Amino acid sequence: MTNGDIARTLERIALILELKGGENPFRIRAYERAAVSVRNMDKDVRSVYEQGGTKALQQLPSIGKDLAEKIEEMLKTGKLAYLKKQEKGIPAGLITILDIEGMGPKRTKELWDEFGIQSIDDLEKLAQSDELRTRKGWGKKSAEAILRGIAQHRKMRGRLPLPQAEPLARELVRSLQDCGHVQRIEIAGSVRRGKETIGDIDILATSDKPEEVMAYFCTLPQVESVTARGRTKSTVFLRAGMDADLRIVEEGAFGAALLYFTGSKDHNIRIRRLGIVKKRTLSEYGLFAGTPKKKGEKIAAKTEEEVYKAIGLPYIEPELREDTGEVQAAQRGKLPTLVQERDVIADMQMHSVFSDGKTSMADMARAAKARGLRYIAITDHASPMGMVKGIRNTKKSVQTYLEAIKKARKQVPGIRILAGAEVDILKDGTLYLNDELLRQFDWIVATVHQYFHEPRKETTARMIVAIRNPYVHMIGHPTARMLGKRQGIAYDMDTVLETARKHSVAMELNTSPDRLD
Ligand SMILES: [Zn+2]
Repeated sequence: MTNGDIARTLERIALILELKGGENPFRIRAYERAAVSVRNMDKDVRSVYEQGGTKALQQLPSIGKDLAEKIEEMLKTGKLAYLKKQEKGIPAGLITILDIEGMGPKRTKELWDEFGIQSIDDLEKLAQSDELRTRKGWGKKSAEAILRGIAQHRKMRGRLPLPQAEPLARELVRSLQDCGHVQRIEIAGSVRRGKETIGDIDILATSDKPEEVMAYFCTLPQVESVTARGRTKSTVFLRAGMDADLRIVEEGAFGAALLYFTGSKDHNIRIRRLGIVKKRTLSEYGLFAGTPKKKGEKIAAKTEEEVYKAIGLPYIEPELREDTGEVQAAQRGKLPTLVQERDVIADMQMHSVFSDGKTSMADMARAAKARGLRYIAITDHASPMGMVKGIRNTKKSVQTYLEAIKKARKQVPGIRILAGAEVDILKDGTLYLNDELLRQFDWIVATVHQYFHEPRKETTARMIVAIRNPYVHMIGHPTARMLGKRQGIAYDMDTVLETARKHSVAMELNTSPDRLD
C-alpha cells in the first residue's frame, strides 16, 4: 500500500458513507481531510509506520487514533475490513456516478432506489428517457445537465487533474530513488509543464544499472500492469488509472532529453526550427552542428539552459512551453516572471464550517499563520440555494457570521483576518446580499454558482453588472468550470476583463484541484 493507495481508500470510504446517508458529516470530512493529507505528504506513510507504529501515524496531519489504526491494518494486510463492510450492497459502478456534475450522494441514491441505476451508462439511458424528464424535482433541464456532465466526464477518461497526478509522479520518483541505482531523476512531460489535466506521467533518469532500475520500476507497488519493458524505456499502467513512462538517458545528454520529453511538442518544433536557421540540429540527444543529414559535433546537451543558450534563447520555464508566443517573447527578452510559492502572501477565498468548508475559522487562521501568510479573508458562501449552508440575506445571519470572525481574530492573534463572503451573482448580475449587508464586510467575492448555460451575450452583461457593483472586490472562479464535470461559462472574456480593470476588481485564479481556472 502506497500513500496513493491509502488516500484512495480513505476517499472511497467518504464517498460510500455519503452515498449511504445517515453518517455524521464530520466523520465523512475527517476521511476526506486525511485522504488529502496522505496524498500530499512528502514522507512515505509506510516508513513512518515502520519506524514509530500507530503513535507516529498520529503525529501526521489529520490522522487521529481511529485512522491510524485503519492505516495500520491497510499496511499490514493490504485490505481494510471496515471498507469491505461498508461496500456491502453498494454496486461498484454507483460511486462513479458521483463524478458527474450535479449528481450528489442524495440524488444518486434517489435514482438508485427508484430506477435501480448502477452505473454512468444506466444514468445516461435514464436521462435520455422521459422518465427523468417528467419526474418531480428533476425535469428536462436536469436531464440535459446530466447528459452534458456525462459527456464532460468521458472526455476526462484516463486523465487525472494535475493536483492528483503530480503527487503520484513525485511518489514514483521517491520510490525510484530508493532503488539505489538512480543518479539523476526528474519529472518531465505535462506534469512538469503544470498542465491542468494529465494523460500520463513521464520520468527521466540516469543510471549505472539501467536494467535493474527498469526491473525495479516495473514491480513497484503502484504498478498494475507492465505495457512495455525495455532497457532504456518502460511503460506501466498505474493502479491510480494512468500510464507512466520511465526513460534512462545518458548523463551527458540529460538536459537535451529533459527539454525534449518535457515538451510541448509544439514548443519543441518551434525551437528546432530556430536551430535549423542557425544550421544546427536539435534532438533528444543534444544540439549538434549541421543538418539532420550531415550532423556535426555536439554543441550542447548537458543542461536545458545550455541548449537554449546555444540556440540563442534564455531559459524558458516549463510552464510556458506551449508555443503560445513564449519563444518570440524570449527572443525579445520579454519573458514574464512566473509567480512562485513565496509570492503568495495571503489567501483571499476560504470557506469555514460556517458554510461548506471542512474546518473552523480559527484552525484555518492558525494554518495560514504557520505557512507565513500575512492576512486571510474568510469568505463563506452567501447563496440563495437552499442546499448551500452559509450566510443568509438577513441582518441576523450576517451578525452571527461577523461575530464568529471576531471570535477567530481573538483566538488567533498575529494574523490579519478579513471578514469576507463569497456572494452568489444572481441571474441578472445583482448579488444575493443587499447593499446594507454587503457594506459590513471587508472583502466581497462575487461568484456564479448557477445559470451556467445562459447565452453568451446575457452572461457577459451579467458579469459586467456584478463587476460594477461598488461592494465587489473580486470575481470568484471566473470560468466556473469543473474539470471533468462542467465546461466553463461562456462570455466575452476580453470585455469582462477590461471592465474589471476599470473598476479595480480582481479576477480570482482559483487553484482548487477541480477548478484550476
Ligand atoms: Zn464558489
